[in-house]
Amino acid sequence: MNRLPLHLATGNAHKAREMQALADASGLQVSVVAAAAMPAVAEDTGTFAGNARKKAYALLPLLLPDAWVLADDSGLGVDALGGAPGVESAYFAGPAGDGAANLHKLTEAMRNVPPERRGAHFICVLALVTPAHGELLFEGRCDGALAMAPAGGNGFGYDPLFVPTGCTQTYAELGDAEKCQLSHRARAWGRLAEWLRPRLPA
Ligand code: IMP
Repeated sequence: MNRLPLHLATGNAHKAREMQALADASGLQVSVVAAAAMPAVAEDTGTFAGNARKKAYALLPLLLPDAWVLADDSGLGVDALGGAPGVESAYFAGPAGDGAANLHKLTEAMRNVPPERRGAHFICVLALVTPAHGELLFEGRCDGALAMAPAGGNGFGYDPLFVPTGCTQTYAELGDAEKCQLSHRARAWGRLAEWLRPRLPA
């Protein structure tokens, strides 16, 4: 059976693997292809959707005209911080985009915030651009709360602080398989999969 190549606008091999795992879990015949050379993109549009679109359109000219491009943008919104770091999640502790420094800064910012005011949510927006359908956006959200201290060794970024609603463990304590079922990225992917399923070659 022919697999549809989805060219992923990221230089991050981890992200490409995670997207392929989500595609496989949804039973779709697609191959997620990490961009061989992803141009640098300033994530400065102020919205997840705007940044995801910008990444997709940065890769598009480097591909063949019939290529399908997928891009994503995501981040964590913390209620007690007025929704920060939000679209700035990757750069919360500075332009270097250091995940450990971001986690440390958030842990410190929340040090004296009591459990009842630690609500937070992750958002992921996927932008798909195809020659025949133009541009489509799919959003996924995962609500939860921040733990009082980081816990767990899996995942990346803010995973050790975020406890999804209905769970007692952080994203970083959950295994990949469990995170894959309830994460913001999985939920965005679920919407994309619904759209893709009837349009894929049989
Ligand atoms: P981007 O979507 O690659 O621009 O990354 C956004 C930033 O949000 C990442 O650098 C992380 O700091 C954070 N982030 C997004 N998704 C996750 C996740 O699943 N776990 C932990 N942090 C995340």
